Amino acid sequence: MSKPILACTSCGATKPEPDGTPTDLFPSAHCGDCPPWTCTDCGEACSASSLCSCWTRLDTLPLADIKAIIAGDGTFDVKPVTKP
Ligand SMILES: [Zn+2]
Ligand SMILES: [Zn+2]
Repeated sequence: MSKPILACTSCGATKPEPDGTPTDLFPSAHCGDCPPWTCTDCGEACSASSLCSCWTRLDTLPLADIKAIIAGDGTFDVKPVTKP
């Protein structure tokens, strides 16, 4: 028997085995089962079905900008963009 995998650090949700999602490697901060939380960036109420304006803003950004934000955060191992 393997240990359950932590899928969400907020509500402590676990899954019994890897299912091919990013939470196989590291737990997500929030998941669809989380109760609404307060965003630490903008202070707005945030939930899986009603995301705060931080996420809305990400939606409108070009993909390159989103990658830059994620790379700057250090959360993901993103290869640096080749400079001209
Ligand atoms: Zn959760
Ligand atoms: Zn926010």
